[in-house]
Amino acid sequence: MTETANVVLVGAGHAHLHVAAHARRLIARGAHVTLVSPGSFWYSGMATGMLGGDYQAGQDRLDPAALIEAQGGECVADRVIAIDRHQRLVQLADSPPLAYDLLSLNLGSRVDPSPIFGLSSADNVWPAKPISNLWRLRQHLETALAGDAEAPRLAVIGGGPTGVELAANLVALHARYGRTPHITLVSASERLLSSAPRAASAWIERRLERRGVRLELAVSVVGHQDGELRLDDGMRLNVEHVVLANGLVAPELTGELGLSCDSRQGLTITPALHSPDDSRIFAVGDCAWLRQAPYPKLGVFGVRQAPVLLDNLCAWLAGEPLRDYRPQRRYLSVLNLGDGRGLALWDRWWWKGRLALKLKRRLDRRFMAQYGA
Ligand SMILES: Cc1cc2nc3c(=O)[nH]c(=O)nc-3n(C[C@H](O)[C@H](O)[C@H](O)COP(=O)(O)OP(=O)(O)OC[C@H]3O[C@@H](n4cnc5c(N)ncnc54)[C@H](O)[C@@H]3O)c2cc1C
Repeated sequence: MTETANVVLVGAGHAHLHVAAHARRLIARGAHVTLVSPGSFWYSGMATGMLGGDYQAGQDRLDPAALIEAQGGECVADRVIAIDRHQRLVQLADSPPLAYDLLSLNLGSRVDPSPIFGLSSADNVWPAKPISNLWRLRQHLETALAGDAEAPRLAVIGGGPTGVELAANLVALHARYGRTPHITLVSASERLLSSAPRAASAWIERRLERRGVRLELAVSVVGHQDGELRLDDGMRLNVEHVVLANGLVAPELTGELGLSCDSRQGLTITPALHSPDDSRIFAVGDCAWLRQAPYPKLGVFGVRQAPVLLDNLCAWLAGEPLRDYRPQRRYLSVLNLGDGRGLALWDRWWWKGRLALKLKRRLDRRFMAQYGA
């Protein structure tokens, strides 16, 4: 391609960090590259450690503008509110629209807003995403824990890896102030970490209970009013803060483009990572749905998509064939338990202890360091 092509990257997610850090490759093929990002990239791998006091906010975030500008690209600090595919224009909340020849979406996900009556509008309800919420929650709690009043009553909703890590790190934050936590973890599943081996679930349940977390399993929250959570078994919980970790779903924007999508999973993509209906629109990470090989909403999948996305954007500009992305079948996840220990899960294997957390810390530091943190 001889004329300048406008490549617009929307959202500074995991894969776009990689593309931004290698934007020169696109520019060398005649592209003008613009990243649209409303603010910092917050790294979820270190987010619960940040909540528990292991990390400061500055250690958990990156400036995507510096990354792309160092490569000769541009960053617009704004949020995309609509995309006009016919005119090939991206509409921004506060800036003039951007024209694109090639568009890539890495918008992430949001906590499932499934209606729990009264929750969405209430104060002191903290969805686990965006990750910046967890930093604000920590600041809020630190003010309370440093005072004389009893520690606030907290509920974490969700018994998956995120809910478990959040509860464990909330305990850790209390321990830093020598305070007794009042934390209840509510999960609709009969056991925590329902896709992990049963022995791992039993171990983490004992461990959390021993550290003072009350578990309410196999119950669902049906309502929230005046600081009271109503559960479907009739129980009522008095809580001052509710932390939501009840699963991630695609952002609303993915359903507004007139392209094939699933309202929860996200924009349908081909193995080459673009929409089957519009080969100028790529999508990766949590906002995308590879129907033939669905992958979970985890950052590690975006990390593996990143080099394929970069290669395919370059190939598209050069009119060359695109290559396929194949999600890994197994992946390692290590939960930070906030007490110097980790719980590692790999396929049907699990192990726990200080070494597991050391490994997690090393992987997380390596991820951030490659982008200059
Ligand atoms: C507490 C917590 C802990 C987690 N821990 C792990 C973990 O240890 N390992 C793991 O693999 N996964 C983890 N996850 C899951 C992980 O957060 C997501 O899977 C991952 O962030 C998805 O990455 P992404 O690249 O798709 O998007 P993200 O990294 O979420 O980035 C999306 C970006 O898009 C931007 N954006 C959104 N909408 C717009 C718009 N309209 N215009 C412009 N920009 C926009 C956002 O500001 C954001 O910066 C965790 C999740 C949570 C909530």
